[in-house]
Amino acid sequence: MTFDLSHPAHVDELVARTTQFINDVVLPIEEEFGGDVEAAGGDTLRKDLQQQAKAAGVFAPHAPTALGGHGLGMVDRAPVFEAAGYSLFGPMALNIAAPDEGNLHLLAEVASPEQRERFLDPLARGTYRSAFAMTEPAPGAGSDPAALTTRATRVDGGWRIEGHKWFITGADGADFFIVMARTSGEPGGAGGATMFLMHASTPGIEVGRHISTLDRSMLGGHCEVRFEGAFVPDDGVLGGVDEGFRYAQVRLGPARMTHVMRWLGSAQRAQDIALQHVAHREAFGAPLSELGMIQQQIADNEIDLAASRALLLRACWKLDRGEHASSSTSIAKTFASEAIYRVVDRSVQMCGGLGVSDDLPLARLLREVRPFRIYDGASEVHRWSVARRAVRAQQKRLQP
Ligand SMILES: Cc1cc2nc3c(=O)[nH]c(=O)nc-3n(C[C@H](O)[C@H](O)[C@H](O)COP(=O)(O)OP(=O)(O)OC[C@H]3O[C@@H](n4cnc5c(N)ncnc54)[C@H](O)[C@@H]3O)c2cc1C
Repeated sequence: MTFDLSHPAHVDELVARTTQFINDVVLPIEEEFGGDVEAAGGDTLRKDLQQQAKAAGVFAPHAPTALGGHGLGMVDRAPVFEAAGYSLFGPMALNIAAPDEGNLHLLAEVASPEQRERFLDPLARGTYRSAFAMTEPAPGAGSDPAALTTRATRVDGGWRIEGHKWFITGADGADFFIVMARTSGEPGGAGGATMFLMHASTPGIEVGRHISTLDRSMLGGHCEVRFEGAFVPDDGVLGGVDEGFRYAQVRLGPARMTHVMRWLGSAQRAQDIALQHVAHREAFGAPLSELGMIQQQIADNEIDLAASRALLLRACWKLDRGEHASSSTSIAKTFASEAIYRVVDRSVQMCGGLGVSDDLPLARLLREVRPFRIYDGASEVHRWSVARRAVRAQQKRLQP
């Protein structure tokens, strides 16, 4: 197995252009509004920044070139997404924010030609915004997707959806939803889920409250959404009926990795701010950076960043080769989501009182990265599946 960790010149150039765009255009707006995307203008800001990103040649690094993107694979996306993630508003500006970016990948893999035209094309160009509706309040789907309770009932010409979702990122203002609903079987059973593409204007879809969470940078909130007899015609079925759980895996592996890429940008920014602070702040007759316990925190941050990038690239390399990368993406997601939090937390500590104040962006970054240990599979769920795979692999090796 050979790993080539270099990126082609056009990727390095895109990283440099993205960094400049983020520094010159995006970071000042994030700073002005304290990272609160709705206060900064919400969808109006998104459209404005995306126009500027297009003009700067940094828009949609992940989207197919035929749809106006740069067509980068997973390995090449990593440094570009990280550069965008240096600002909390950067991913939105480049059209690579969750959940749109993961939905784009899913549609590119699974959608019919007609669905691509209706949903993928406008999503890739930033005309549409989308949401992915899977999670439900107890006793419904959460860590265990098999608990899915939202039902799709067969009717003439299509399906009627009944159910209650929550924590649906971007739901308020989304143009369409990808909805997971049960088309067969009972909650708790394997299989029986189908994905549906539904315009947000469909009668019977009701977007409710924004659930107030630690973070503030994701457009359209994390909302409750009710489906009350919402009709979706047969051409709204994404892929095959009862294939939803399989397609969820198509979306989730890469989506976990792109979250790692973006949040690595935040972690690197936190470390840069801390480095700047400890180089200039003096205590006990010397800069803080010369004190051993500060050096340990700086070094631990460097180690966490480097290890996260290495695990990320290993998983991306497998995904680019079309390999089944579930274990690698679980390992990378679990390690990186925890390492990124540690990096930001140490950076707060190194900056003392300023670290927890709003004079620096560190407290904001800490709030933003914390939920990543829960969504896209909580750390415990990934550890559970990594352990089960390891045991199975060992049993297989021991079989005569
Ligand atoms: C900010 C944010 C954005 C989100 N966006 C979306 C979205 O756009 N669309 C969407 O569908 N969902 C979204 N979610 C929901 C997210 O996917 C779920 O919160 C996550 O899957 C966990 O489900 P749950 O909250 O029901 O927790 P539960 O399933 O109730 O689990 C609670 C805790 O139990 C523990 N646990 C679970 N299983 C195991 C196990 N096997 N072993 C040991 N411990 C375990 C874990 O610590 C877990 O955190 C979002 C969540 C957040 C916080």
